[in-house]
Amino acid sequence: MLRLTDVKLPLDHNDQAINEYILERLSLKPEQLAEYTVFRRGYDARKRNVIILMYTLDVTLADGVNEDALLAAFEKDQHVRATPDMSYKFVAEKTEEIEQRPVVIGFGPCGLFTALILAQMGLRPIVLERGKEVRERTKDTFGFWRKRELNPESNVQFGEGGAGTFSDGKLYSQVKDPKFHARKILTEFVKAGAPEEIMYLSKPHIGTFKLVTMIERMRKDIIELGGEIRFSARVDDILIENDQVTGVELAGGEIIETNHVSLAIGHSARDTFEMLQKRGVYLEAKPFSIGFRIEHKQAAIDDARFGKNAGNPLLGAADYKLVHHCKNGRSVYSFCMCPGGTVVAATSEEGHVVTNGMSQYSRNEMNANSAIVVGITPEDYPGNPLAGIDLQRKWEKNAFVIGGSNYDAPGQTVGDFLSGKGEGEFGDVVPSYKPGLKFTDLSKTLPPFAVAAIREAIPAFEKKIKGFSAKDATLTGVETRTSSPVSIKRGRDYQSISTKGLFPAGEGAGYAGGILSAGIDGIKVAEAMALSMLLKE
Ligand code: FAD
Repeated sequence: MLRLTDVKLPLDHNDQAINEYILERLSLKPEQLAEYTVFRRGYDARKRNVIILMYTLDVTLADGVNEDALLAAFEKDQHVRATPDMSYKFVAEKTEEIEQRPVVIGFGPCGLFTALILAQMGLRPIVLERGKEVRERTKDTFGFWRKRELNPESNVQFGEGGAGTFSDGKLYSQVKDPKFHARKILTEFVKAGAPEEIMYLSKPHIGTFKLVTMIERMRKDIIELGGEIRFSARVDDILIENDQVTGVELAGGEIIETNHVSLAIGHSARDTFEMLQKRGVYLEAKPFSIGFRIEHKQAAIDDARFGKNAGNPLLGAADYKLVHHCKNGRSVYSFCMCPGGTVVAATSEEGHVVTNGMSQYSRNEMNANSAIVVGITPEDYPGNPLAGIDLQRKWEKNAFVIGGSNYDAPGQTVGDFLSGKGEGEFGDVVPSYKPGLKFTDLSKTLPPFAVAAIREAIPAFEKKIKGFSAKDATLTGVETRTSSPVSIKRGRDYQSISTKGLFPAGEGAGYAGGILSAGIDGIKVAEAMALSMLLKE
């Protein structure tokens, strides 16, 4: 099979256009082309009224056509190559019974893929997840949004599926992926019920409700392969002897012995980070970002990005990605943009307010939202490796109090925030945050340098997205859990540099940022665990 990259066609091309393009591009006669598949489809909307579709195509030649000769003829053309083998290859396979079972702490995307790969290799993982199974968790999470009743063990951050379950379900990442692990993840997602299009769209997303069903199916797969998944099973201690993990202790005192533990706990398991520090596991403070969620009418973003092409089903609801380098040396950027979605309450701790964003597959809510955040580094929270958590807690508690101490979030229109006018009220853009919003002076909800940076960045973003700094766009605060404030350092063998047998993984350990990259890291960790187990046995 041949792969053609950098294929550009107009947005409104007809059904035959791809076929014709391939014939012309490769100088083939119609009978020499057996079939083609779209490997990737994206778009270039830099000129909003002349949007181009960008394809990567896999081309199968008819029997008798010499593929090697054709490839040789296009040797100098970097956009014509043999299609690489993207199939997933297990690094090891269990051949005889192994007594010890690996333990996976956390059942977010990272733990899910660690467990799945271990199970597929026959290594019967035991998954320990502090939260509830996904249907029960959904009730608790929606209960919090509707009734302000937070369950600290079952919420947006904790429970089956991890932090990304109530999300936009964006499934793309910038991480290098030479072994095509992302392909394995998307293939498993499709098997579990995700739409086929995630295999070829350049920016696929699946939305919240599809994720819920998919996770249940994947759980079933793991169990059928001999894995065990335990919910409401919070790991409260790691047992370590001579710098080697020997087991874990659950809340309630049960001990599970094992020498192989994957730690895929996400960025919000603050109590678990504290426990790890007490046990002497090596931790470092890590940069992260803080800011607000901004909301505009989705129609305004569609218009700014797509012009007369707004509403074209091939484009869907428009997104954006923005960055601005400020005079005070800070960078402000948009993060986790959710087209046609809602802003959600994402705390896992009582008496805190934290924002995030989610959407459904249809992305048809009125507003577009994204986090507008300022990068901060350990220089802003020096000392203890866990000082970033203290900083997050400080501003989350402050937001809770300013919001009225009832889980309403502090909010303001962009116009009032930029002019420093004070409380105000919303205009055309109705903020979507549930349980509710208290209009207030947002400049009191983040450190002054962050407020100054965001005040500078929003008008700068207007130059890229018309209407971005519209007076009635709304801001909701605070967005503090953009990534982990802590890194659990690991070596080339994927094990903690202080503690053998402990495999820090995913977003919480500082090795991923998003569903797909967490899944990729989960696969790598499963491979490292399997090699370590099978080589030792
Ligand atoms: P997590 O998903 O955080 O999973 C960690 C799990 O470990 C949790 O289930 C937790 O309960 C469990 N745990 C923690 N401590 C313990 C313990 N002591 N014992 C047992 N279990 C424990 N990313 C995207 O790519 N696209 C998006 O559209 C997107 N939208 C998002 C929307 C929201 C509202 C949120 C909150 C996040 C979103 N993200 C999105 C980010 C994404 O969800 C995370 O990057 C990803 O889930 C990280 O995966 P993880 O497995 O490393 O950690």
